[in-house]
Amino acid sequence: MKIALIAHDEKKPEMARFAAAYREILRGNELFATGHTGKVVADATDLPVQRFNSGPLGGDQEIGALIAKNQMDLVIFFRDPLTSQPHEPDVNALIRLADVYNTPLATNIGTAEVLLRGLGAGFIDFRKLVNGDETQHEQYE
Ligand code: PGA
Repeated sequence: MKIALIAHDEKKPEMARFAAAYREILRGNELFATGHTGKVVADATDLPVQRFNSGPLGGDQEIGALIAKNQMDLVIFFRDPLTSQPHEPDVNALIRLADVYNTPLATNIGTAEVLLRGLGAGFIDFRKLVNGDETQHEQYE
């Protein structure tokens, strides 16, 4: 499974604790992250993380590009709703794209825990069920 991790600045300590707590489930999956989040997660878990650009420089859009190719299986985006973000619209762009491809996306730690426990139990197969091998979006092509 390919898992993308993003955390706004105020949420990075929470992301570090979360990734460390779920290290054993994350291990064995391919981890991707925006630049700074990737460092935080790699430091907290000692797991390999493919780091894209930092969020303000388009890292979340690089993750979006993988979602658009239907190559991302799960997105964990710890969003900080209390601090205005210079690249706020990208949050909604990513969420929208995840909905286009039925990619599970958590925006807070509560949902993220449920998703990772589901992954650990081996039941995040519904994407295959819903999408088949290829996502059917011909009418928009
Ligand atoms: P960062 O980007 O991990 O590079 O800080 C995340 C964000 O969009 O704030």
